[in-house]
Amino acid sequence: MSALTPRLEITTKIGCSINCRYCPQNLFIKRYIELYPTGDRELSLDNFKLVVDKLPNDTRIDFSGMSEPWLNPYCTDMILYAYEKGFRITVYTTLAGMTEADFLRIADIPFELFVLHIPDKNGNSNIILSDEYTNLLTTIVNTEKDGKNIITQYSCHGDVHPGLNKIIPENSLISTGLIDRAGNIKTDNDSIITKHINNEIVCIQCSDNFFHNVLLPNGTLLVCCMDYGIKHVLGNLFTQGWDEIHNSPMIHELRSGLKDEKSDILCRDCSNAITITEIYDSYMRYYNWAKDLEKATNNLKYTISNYKDTISKREDTIVDLKNSVEKRDVTISNYKNTISRRDVTIVELKHSVAKRDVTIADKNKLIGEKIGGIVDRDKIIADRDEIIADNNKQIAQQRELLKAQSDYIVKLQSTFIFRILSFTKKIAKRILGRR
Ligand code: SF4
Repeated sequence: MSALTPRLEITTKIGCSINCRYCPQNLFIKRYIELYPTGDRELSLDNFKLVVDKLPNDTRIDFSGMSEPWLNPYCTDMILYAYEKGFRITVYTTLAGMTEADFLRIADIPFELFVLHIPDKNGNSNIILSDEYTNLLTTIVNTEKDGKNIITQYSCHGDVHPGLNKIIPENSLISTGLIDRAGNIKTDNDSIITKHINNEIVCIQCSDNFFHNVLLPNGTLLVCCMDYGIKHVLGNLFTQGWDEIHNSPMIHELRSGLKDEKSDILCRDCSNAITITEIYDSYMRYYNWAKDLEKATNNLKYTISNYKDTISKREDTIVDLKNSVEKRDVTISNYKNTISRRDVTIVELKHSVAKRDVTIADKNKLIGEKIGGIVDRDKIIADRDEIIADNNKQIAQQRELLKAQSDYIVKLQSTFIFRILSFTKKIAKRILGRR
């Protein structure tokens, strides 16, 4: 099995006040006090720095260990120190002991994993749902880093507590599995995974280099996070180096214990251990899966190739369309310029029309005044026509009078002539009669 990169879980404090039902906390505390009666109960910041400064550069530092990390008041400072030193960092926390100020100090760190252990409704975890807790939980749940939620996963020892329904987003990744910690939890609860394996085994978590270890506050390095009984002490990181410890007799004992079914190593009871046969079965499963995957991949490649052709053609079409659009853009731009010029002309014409309107208005006014004058004149003419009509009437009457007088005169003249003729005739007769 290939070697994994180193991982070191930090136990910042001996004794976890939360004391979940399925955590072998009592066993751990009892064994620590038995083995190290005067050993540090809290990891000091200086000792943490001492350890970090001797770790391989590719080590991932996990703030989890055998107790809640923030029960140590220097936990935030430890995380910041490890981050400044360039280590990959992971956090597993119940939030116990963490304040909002603590969280804000580390909120910008790109954690590889940030796993929240949340309360369950089965009472397996003793996390108290205070206002302070739910406020801090809400802040963290709503915090994003590089567009992603800072929380990568939730862990719950049962069904999620109903008091969190409005806080934990739907579709969150929540692991609920319970294990017996390599036999360190004695229970008759069937839902807890227990295991005992014979034959040759390997650890799927630590490989055979046992690089996934747990640091205790006194520098003790345990083989892994299952070892609550402090059974496999690899060495002490305060006084030894990483490489020295990983060549220790305990490492060799563990390594040979993986092959020897009679060995009494913790791994024989661990859910992370699997047999060579299981590995082979898994290998065959993955082999067949890989073959199916290869077949599916080839089909997909063929489909993708067809898609690529289609995409290529569409890209050509898009280029043509782009050129066409560009040409239209030029035309539109020209139209716009023309319209702009016309707009200027229209504005000028409007000004001109406005001026003409003013002129026309003035002229209309003048015409109105003249029409008024004409109307007055028409009235004068009408008056005069009336006078002329009266005059004509009078003239006609006078003409009639004159005619009547003329007729009378003619009549008088006729009468006078007749009388003259009659008188002349009488005179003539008298004259003629005398002769
Ligand atoms: S106890 Fe389990 S996790 Fe620890 S090294 Fe053995 S198999 Fe791996």
